[in-house]
Amino acid sequence: MAKILIIEDEESILMPLEDNLKLEGYEVSSAKDGLQGLSLAAGHPYDLIVLDIMLPKMDGFEVCRRLRQDRVMTPILMLTAKSQEVDKVLGLELGADDYVTKPFSSRELLARIKAILRRANEPLRGIDFYRFGDIELDFVKYEAKKGGRPVPLTALEFSLLHFLVQNRGRVVHRNEILDSVWGKDVYVDARTVDKHVSLLRKKFEDDPQEPKFILGVRGIGYKFTG
Ligand code: CA
Repeated sequence: MAKILIIEDEESILMPLEDNLKLEGYEVSSAKDGLQGLSLAAGHPYDLIVLDIMLPKMDGFEVCRRLRQDRVMTPILMLTAKSQEVDKVLGLELGADDYVTKPFSSRELLARIKAILRRANEPLRGIDFYRFGDIELDFVKYEAKKGGRPVPLTALEFSLLHFLVQNRGRVVHRNEILDSVWGKDVYVDARTVDKHVSLLRKKFEDDPQEPKFILGVRGIGYKFTG
């Protein structure tokens, strides 16, 4: 069963969350501050990290940033309390996979967790390897390279790229992307798609402002032309 690490200092959130996840059969570990969370996350092979932002010793943004910097690509679900935090999660290249805003229902959080784990564990079918421009994508080994150099990508970014590659040459609607990549049973804002696309452009396009591969189609969605 999947191993989940919760990094959260508020007992009133941590305890019921831990109980619910254990009831669902997950193996759960927890940390109550950012430093302890970081050292657990870096030293153990978790399947998912639930990460609060306001934490003692080191905040969740920094924990996420450091993990990604160290190439720990475990999916991360961030817990946000304020809209400013949401903007920061989406805007910065933190490498978080998803976020949930407090207060949240345990049902919603469980749906998100299941969607992330499904995405991370399901093999990406259909296309194993794809090359465009100076970019190489290996969907079996979850490896990406640009100009021969490795580009670290989250499981979510691989799924999104895989979906775009599978639908190359076709305009795909944001909702289609949400249903396929995030899952039909979770509610995610359409701008989440836009933010993740813009992060992909920063990683792969020579000029992210003038993309050559992931084109925007105003009011509809995107078209991959690689
Ligand atoms: Ca907190």
